[in-house]
Amino acid sequence: MVQRDTVSLTDQQRLVRDSIREICADFDADYWREHDKSETYPHEFADSLAEAGWFGALIPEEYGGAGMTTEEVVVMMEEIAANGGGFSAAQAIHGAIYNSVPLVNYGSEEMKEELLPRVAEGESSIQAFGLTEPNAGSDSTSIETFAERDGDDYVISGQKIWISRVDVSDYIVLMTRTTPKSEVEKPTRGMTMFLVDLEDAYEQDALEIKQIDKTASNFVHSFELFFEELRVPADNVVGEVGEGFYQMLDGLNEERLVIAAECVGLGEAALEAGASYAAEREVFGQRIGSHQAIQHPLAEAYARVHAAKGLVYNAASEVGSADRTAVGARANMAKFLAADAAFDAADAAVQAHGGFGVAREYDVERFFREARLTRLVPITQQLVLNFLAENQLDLPRSY
Ligand SMILES: Cc1cc2nc3c(=O)[nH]c(=O)nc-3n(C[C@H](O)[C@H](O)[C@H](O)COP(=O)(O)OP(=O)(O)OC[C@H]3O[C@@H](n4cnc5c(N)ncnc54)[C@H](O)[C@@H]3O)c2cc1C
Repeated sequence: MVQRDTVSLTDQQRLVRDSIREICADFDADYWREHDKSETYPHEFADSLAEAGWFGALIPEEYGGAGMTTEEVVVMMEEIAANGGGFSAAQAIHGAIYNSVPLVNYGSEEMKEELLPRVAEGESSIQAFGLTEPNAGSDSTSIETFAERDGDDYVISGQKIWISRVDVSDYIVLMTRTTPKSEVEKPTRGMTMFLVDLEDAYEQDALEIKQIDKTASNFVHSFELFFEELRVPADNVVGEVGEGFYQMLDGLNEERLVIAAECVGLGEAALEAGASYAAEREVFGQRIGSHQAIQHPLAEAYARVHAAKGLVYNAASEVGSADRTAVGARANMAKFLAADAAFDAADAAVQAHGGFGVAREYDVERFFREARLTRLVPITQQLVLNFLAENQLDLPRSY
């Protein structure tokens, strides 16, 4: 058994860890392997979390949620990944927890009272967040999906890409432009966030979705979205018109820390698989785990995963007290280090498995595909380094 408990937990964190471990115990390696192979969403897993109220983790108690903080959610998501589900299992439900945050922070009272208790109860889901477009990924202020005011409504047209979990969601939080980029004094202005009821969009015949054929996170589907004159009530604007970009940034650092925790969990799952195979497999009459050539890459990855874990937990414990710039820097560093550490762990685990490293039945090939993905989403490693260079090293912005 690989040692995982390298940071001390609060009582509340311990409670979260134990509850999530108990739920995850019902979903073994076969379950995840089958879902990866058949590319089907893990409904049973998501339902068991929703029924136990975990989708309301970040919803305040006054709206029926659990009112938890980043400190507890990092434990939750690390556990989900580490118990064999990997990054994909965490991603399968990540949106369900995080997409209510803009509503909590900026939604109208009416919107919150109407929707948040249902989300907390697991009756409705806001699994999808739509920002990326074919010409606006890293350069997110270049989005062109446009929302035009028309009486009491907005009419939305445009295209999105890579939007995950649209197929398992009731709502999408959609980022649009209400003023073209060319007409605002700063590119970050003129963007507006909407809550869109997906069923209503399909009924209006104003939304088409097309699944993207991809090779990682197979059971969490991502889509191209085509909006054509979708009519949305002006009451569905989340927060202020033109302020959507700033609203999106609020809470982003905390979410990034949680994604770093998912990478840590993935690294731990890969190390568990790699070390247990190395401890048993015999070649030339010797257990391969007795060779340093097998031990060292695993041990080195262990050190990197747990260094990242220390940073994640430490930063999560200080979210409420440290200044925003410090939280932002640590969240970005944690995500960068955790993604690379997960990659090293998965790579070492594949190598230790020899040819079986690419056999589905040993899972490490899935962890490897997922680890590669963590270096790309939700922000690429290069963009994290750009952020650190500019904000922590005081170097000029290069783009
Ligand atoms: C599986 C998956 C799920 C996703 N889910 C969602 C979702 O639910 N909602 C959503 O809105 N988006 C989602 N995304 C989109 C994701 O956030 C983007 O793919 C990511 O931000 C990168 O954007 P891009 O793919 O357009 O790459 P680009 O922006 O085209 O970048 C291409 C490459 O150039 C590099 N690069 C670009 N500019 C610079 C620079 N100035 N300096 C150095 N390097 C640079 C990048 O780092 C990258 O390596 C998802 C993506 C994937 C793959």
